[in-house]
Amino acid sequence: MYAVAGRVKDEDIALVRDRSSIVDVVSDTVTLRSAGGGNMKGLCPFHDEKTPSFNVSPARGVYFCHGCGQGGDAIKFLMDAEHLSFIESVERLASKSGIQLRYETDGPGVSTPRPQTGQRQRLIAAHAAATEFYRDQLGSPGARKAREFLAERGFGRDAAEKYGCGFAPDSWDALAKHLRLKGFTAEELTAAGLCKPARSGSLIDRFRRRLLWPIRDVTGDVIGFGARKLFDDDDGPKYLNTPETPIYKKSHVLYGLDHAKREIAKRGRAVIVEGYTDVMACHEAGEPTAVATCGTAFGVDHIQVLRRLLMDSDSFTGEIIYTFDGDAAGQKAALRAFEEDQRFVGRTFIAVSPDNMDPCELRLAKGDLAVRDMIAGREPLVDFALRQTLAKFDLDTVEGRVEAMRKAAPLVAKIKDREKRPEYARKLAGDLGMDLDPVQRAVNNAVRSSSDQPQQRAAQPADSPQRMVEREALKLALQEPVLAGPMFDALGSEMYADPVLQAVREAVSEAGGASAATGGAVWIEKVRDSCADLGGQVLVSELAVEPLYVDGAADPRYVQVTLARLQGAALTTRIRDLKSKVQRVNPVTHKDQYLALAGELFSLEQQARALRDQAAGGL
Ligand SMILES: [Zn+2]
Repeated sequence: MYAVAGRVKDEDIALVRDRSSIVDVVSDTVTLRSAGGGNMKGLCPFHDEKTPSFNVSPARGVYFCHGCGQGGDAIKFLMDAEHLSFIESVERLASKSGIQLRYETDGPGVSTPRPQTGQRQRLIAAHAAATEFYRDQLGSPGARKAREFLAERGFGRDAAEKYGCGFAPDSWDALAKHLRLKGFTAEELTAAGLCKPARSGSLIDRFRRRLLWPIRDVTGDVIGFGARKLFDDDDGPKYLNTPETPIYKKSHVLYGLDHAKREIAKRGRAVIVEGYTDVMACHEAGEPTAVATCGTAFGVDHIQVLRRLLMDSDSFTGEIIYTFDGDAAGQKAALRAFEEDQRFVGRTFIAVSPDNMDPCELRLAKGDLAVRDMIAGREPLVDFALRQTLAKFDLDTVEGRVEAMRKAAPLVAKIKDREKRPEYARKLAGDLGMDLDPVQRAVNNAVRSSSDQPQQRAAQPADSPQRMVEREALKLALQEPVLAGPMFDALGSEMYADPVLQAVREAVSEAGGASAATGGAVWIEKVRDSCADLGGQVLVSELAVEPLYVDGAADPRYVQVTLARLQGAALTTRIRDLKSKVQRVNPVTHKDQYLALAGELFSLEQQARALRDQAAGGL
């Protein structure tokens, strides 16, 4: 549908590489902290982790993740993190650093039209032009209702300006015509979600007679719009959003994030509100960390986006605060978050506004301070969930209390921070008006029955655990080299205790390494031919077909966990050897040697702990 992107001159690409700061580019999506030695680190955007293994070297202009093996320069980062093509990444970086790109032509004398830039760039440009168009319309006579809507909610001209609010005029194709004149094609406007083809075949605008909020990605580019109905005879839904497009993915988008991201990182919290006016109200009231989802529930992908901003020194310590106006839908959403989001329960809070008002209404009725107070009065999600559960039962009867205990005990059992469980069991007993003993027992039972399941799932054929992990790592290299490549290759044959498996590991290197392989029979054959050990050759064929111990397809997470276990097993052996060595050295007569060994032991044990954390999360 689109012309092939033009080829940018090599020297311009080099210039883009040179001028782009890897730290700036990465910082748009990942909060970075100093890692010493001039390097920075943060939570990897490419795999799920709680402790940062994503490193950025400003001096070398590159990033590398020790967890999943992703690495590269600023161009590569944009390609992977924002799903851009090579050319789109180059164009994005060039425009940020003010570099005018030159494109290769077919040769002297051949007149080629100016090559089209990447699709993303075009869709962003269309949105920028549309934002300007809609904003101008907000001042027109036809937009009186839109201005009133904002004014009634406490937003004057300044706020409208600041958030880029606009108005879609009463016309079928005012925007389409305007953007066509600016050189955008019908295909581009359709792909952008700004327009759609009518039955007659002509191009019509998606939004009509509505108040619009531009929705920006984390870097500030407008990628879509949210549109509020204003007129009673508009029979569309109250809110209409841009549909899914190549640049607009509602599961990732958070309204207000471009304004809020620095404050979220700085203050260590993010406030989740429900609508565009709520975001505006919170920001205007002095809570600049508010964001809202756009036409979808707050989900796992949104959490990932926020977590990368909330990373604090070494782990995720920020708070995610949901606000609800106390209605049933909001409560349901909070309880669902509790179900899905176990890893962050301890970091999740609920702020319920008084009198069922949303932040925008609250600000109008009681002022800025009331909004900030509501957020400050947040309660832990666990408390909220318990309260909601107990509210469903009649605690005046024995049956009601017992039933409530049965429903509430699993919630307490789910609290990941196990030291907090006794405290909550006591609290639950108090709320129920029951003795601690039966409540504690119910909680313990719930803990036991929930921890039974993973053990059953982990049941695997008898084989030493270490050997199994070694085999699994090799299976990944043979069956999924594209996925496992860089991580696998980073771990040498010394990680393998079994000599035959060691020979297979060496054969993988001999065959050029898993990173360079694309998989398939040719790859397997190459490894087999490279294997010096006859038993190893047989084993290669076996490992190439033996199913992986993972439900469904292997993913980067599984690769990471498997290789972390492999490293962990090798470390355990080294630690055991080192410990016995330390014991044999006399700390008085051989002080220096003793200290050196003890230091090494300490650092190995730290590494082992980190690896155990990595390996624990996954399976
Ligand atoms: Zn990673």
